[in-house]
Amino acid sequence: RSWWDHVTPAPKDPINAVTEAFLADPCPYKINLGVGAYRDDDGKPVVLQCVREAEGKIAATNFLESTCAAISSKLVEESAKLVYGEDSDVIKEGRFAGVQALSGTGACRLFAEFQRRFYPDSRIYMPDPTWSNHHNIWRDAQVPIRTFHYYHPDSKGLNFVALMDDVKNAPNGSFFLLHPCAHNPTGVDPSDEQWQEISSLFKVKNHFPFFDMAYQGFASGDLERDARAIRIFLDDGHLIGCAQSFAKNMALYGHRVGCLSLLCDDKIQAVAIKSQLQQIASTIYGSPPIHGMLAVSKILSDPDIKAIWLKEVKVYFSSFSFLFHSLFTSIFIITCIRTIGLMHLLIISTCYKDMATRVQRMRATLKEALEKLGSPLNWQPITNQVGMFCFSGLTPDEVDRLAKEFHVYMTYDGRISMAGVTTKNVDYLASAIHEVTA
Ligand code: PMP
Repeated sequence: RSWWDHVTPAPKDPINAVTEAFLADPCPYKINLGVGAYRDDDGKPVVLQCVREAEGKIAATNFLESTCAAISSKLVEESAKLVYGEDSDVIKEGRFAGVQALSGTGACRLFAEFQRRFYPDSRIYMPDPTWSNHHNIWRDAQVPIRTFHYYHPDSKGLNFVALMDDVKNAPNGSFFLLHPCAHNPTGVDPSDEQWQEISSLFKVKNHFPFFDMAYQGFASGDLERDARAIRIFLDDGHLIGCAQSFAKNMALYGHRVGCLSLLCDDKIQAVAIKSQLQQIASTIYGSPPIHGMLAVSKILSDPDIKAIWLKEVKVYFSSFSFLFHSLFTSIFIITCIRTIGLMHLLIISTCYKDMATRVQRMRATLKEALEKLGSPLNWQPITNQVGMFCFSGLTPDEVDRLAKEFHVYMTYDGRISMAGVTTKNVDYLASAIHEVTA
C-alpha cells in the first residue's frame, strides 16, 4: 500500500479545463474565449508601455533580499489612493490597515482567514453567480458561504429586487462580498442609484461590505469612475474592506501584485489589524515577491509613468481605424496630422493599447454581427454588460456544440471573455453562435 492511494485527482478548475481543451484542438481557426487575461487584436498578450518604463527605472534596484518595508508601504499607500481617493482623509490619517498581497486571489484569501479568526461564527454572502474561486477561497478558510441573488437570466441584467430582499433578510452584521465594477462573470453592475440604495440598506442592517476589485478601469476605462461604488459606501460612513489586483489593469498576471486594505475607525486599530494580517501572511508564504511590487510602486508613484498607465487603460487613439469611417473623424484626423505630423500621430496611436475601448468595440461588433445574421434573440445585453466578460446566456449544450463543431471554447456557464474576440474572428464567432442558437 502506498502513502498516497487515497489521494484522487482534484476536480478540474473550470477555466483551466477550457484552456486545456483549446490547446489540444489542432484547428487553425480555433478561438479561446475562456481566458480572463487581456489580449490585443492579434490575440497576443500585451506588455504595457508603463510597465516597460517602470522596469527600465527599477532595473538597477538592489532590493533582492526581502521586501523593503518602505517600498512595500509605498505600494500600499498608492493602491489605497485608488480605492479611497487621492486626497482622502483615510490616507492622510493612516486610518486603514493595508498589506501587499499575492494579487487579488491572495488578498481575498488573507481576508477570508482574517474573517474566520476574528469573526469565527460569521458567514460570507457572495453574489450568484460569482468568480468560481471565491467559493473555494472562503471554503478553504472554513467560512460558511451563502449566496445572494444578483443576475436575472431572463433580462440578462441585475435582479435588483431579489438582491435587496436577500440583503434585508440576512442576519444583521453579515459579511458581503461585492464586485465594485465589471462583475465577473456576468459583466452586470448596479447603477449608481442602485449602489446608493444597497449602501443605505447595508447601513440599516449593519452589514460589512468587502469589495473585490479585480478589474478597476475595465468597466469604464476610468479608474475613478470604476471606484464610484466604493466611494458611495465611504460617503455613507461604512467601514469597508477591499482586495485589489494589478493583474488585469496592468496586465501583470504572472507577477502576483495586489493589495488588501481594511478601513478602520482610527490609526490604533489600523496598526493592530495590519499586524494580524502580516502574521497570517507570514505563516502562508513569508513575504510577497518583490519585482512586480517595485514595478507597480513605480507606476503608481511616478506621475509621468502613472499618466501613461491611465492613458493605456483608456485612450482615444486606438479606435483610430474604426473611427476613420466617419467623415467627421476623417476631418479631425487630417487636422491632427497637419498640426502634429503624421509620424507623431502614428506613434501615439500604436503606443497606446487601449484595453477598455477595444473590449467595448468588440462588444458592439459582435452584437451587430449577430443581428445582421438575423438572430431572433436579444443580444442587447452584450453591449449593456461591462468589463472583460460577457454573460451570453448560452446553455451548456450550446457551449458544448460550439467547442465540438466550431472550435470555439468557453466556460459552461456561457461566459465569453471579450479579450479573446478580435476583428479577425468576430464574424466567424457570430455565425457559430447563431448556428447553435438558431
Ligand atoms: N477576483 C475576481 C472577481 C476575479 O475575476 C479574479 C481573476 N479572475 C480575481 C479576483 C483574482 O485575480 P488575480 O489573483 O489574478 O489577481
